[in-house]
Amino acid sequence: MRRLIVGLVICACCALAARGQEKGEVLNLIQAVQGDTPLIEDLRTLTDEIGGRPTGSAANMRSVEWALERFRAAGVSARKEAFDMPALWLERSASSTVRGAVEFRARVAAMPFSIGTPVAGAEAPFIDAGRGTTEDFERLGEEAKGALVLIETDLLQDVPGLFKEYADAAEIERRAFAAEVMGVVYMGSRSRSVLYRHNASLSHFNRHLMLVMERDAATRAMRLLRAEQVLTLRARVDINSSGPYESFNVIGEIRGSLQPEEFVVVGAHLDSWGIGTGALDNGANVALVIDLARQMSRLGIKPKRTIRFALFNGEEQGMHGSLGYTLLHADELDRHVMASSYDIGSGRITGYFTNGRSELFEVLDAALQPGENVGPFEHSTEPIVGTDNFDFMLQGVANLVANQESANYGPNHHARTDTFEQVDLEQLRKNAAVAAAITYAFANVDVDWVRHDREAITELVGSTSLGEQLKMFNYYESWASGTRGRTD
Ligand SMILES: [Zn+2]
Repeated sequence: MRRLIVGLVICACCALAARGQEKGEVLNLIQAVQGDTPLIEDLRTLTDEIGGRPTGSAANMRSVEWALERFRAAGVSARKEAFDMPALWLERSASSTVRGAVEFRARVAAMPFSIGTPVAGAEAPFIDAGRGTTEDFERLGEEAKGALVLIETDLLQDVPGLFKEYADAAEIERRAFAAEVMGVVYMGSRSRSVLYRHNASLSHFNRHLMLVMERDAATRAMRLLRAEQVLTLRARVDINSSGPYESFNVIGEIRGSLQPEEFVVVGAHLDSWGIGTGALDNGANVALVIDLARQMSRLGIKPKRTIRFALFNGEEQGMHGSLGYTLLHADELDRHVMASSYDIGSGRITGYFTNGRSELFEVLDAALQPGENVGPFEHSTEPIVGTDNFDFMLQGVANLVANQESANYGPNHHARTDTFEQVDLEQLRKNAAVAAAITYAFANVDVDWVRHDREAITELVGSTSLGEQLKMFNYYESWASGTRGRTD
């Protein structure tokens, strides 16, 4: 079975290399990453033995040391690179009780950058805010003031559902804060009452209590409220928070043989939320990136350009590690040929987002031709906000995000269930072959594109969905004011 897959992937990539030596090298690499490598064992140790690793936690620092050791054991030079995190936020514990004519406990997760409560807890009217629409808040009027508002959600099925959840949340929270609520309680969108955690829209600027409540309890509370019962919610939320601190990316590097001053970045983020063990998001792709470096080193492959294998931190809390990378390496960005990100679990890679650049299609098409068991591949110029390509894009550096089938990514996203056994190990190895072909191609081909200046990036913001996405994720101001992205 494996031999068959290798053969098909090799066929898929034959068109890559015009020159004999390169062709042999990339075929060896593609075969190697599909072999019996330590990739799976790396994923197991990262997820089971280190576990959930939110930036700022002790587990996260262990993961940094782990990643350094993994690169070095593979003979790949590696270093820690410091960057600034704007604020520390870690949940110590969170619990709640719904109170009224009946009383029951409801498991909750604090949303990142939620405020905590006093040790004795906080209690407030628990009210039905429907879907959190403008009409809902008009209906509530003064009643919303000082209350904990319960927001109804759809059951999450897939990645598009996840994007809708994010988009809706920004609007719901804007209305709720304008109504002067004490806090927002989302009905958990995951089946089987699985808890999860992702950012409140204002990230570290948030000053409200923000909770996700297990779906069973939240739907029960909602039914009670709609049956005219009066409820309060008592919540106890203990948060470890403080101001700015230093965190670290881990950068493995294989130096280029002909143009070492030019760079290709292949990246995944090391951090996760601590509620699961960060396997799909993003341990699987961390293991993929490390194994790619390991196999290149083992085979003695010397790419023309320098390849940086970047394990970013601080991604979940606002892509701060990759931002830090672009600041630390500002003088080299003109010579960054491409920066790629892998961050959608272990579903099949279906193509790449080129983030506005159709000129990258030629290299992608040459490197990846579909075979019976691989592809078809379809690439898109659509700009993507939400992972570590972001600051490269705003700096005008050519960048890629691997597009992947949703598979089981959506329902397990940032959830308790994001653990080792969710990862499709066979597909992960096939994805590694695709990533190998692409990384090798960009490290060796002649390129005719250059870094975009601010005018060109502004054109991208204005002519695509990028502007709307920047607003949705609350990054528009930092782009517009020049605090994030290229200024010249
Ligand atoms: Zn991620």
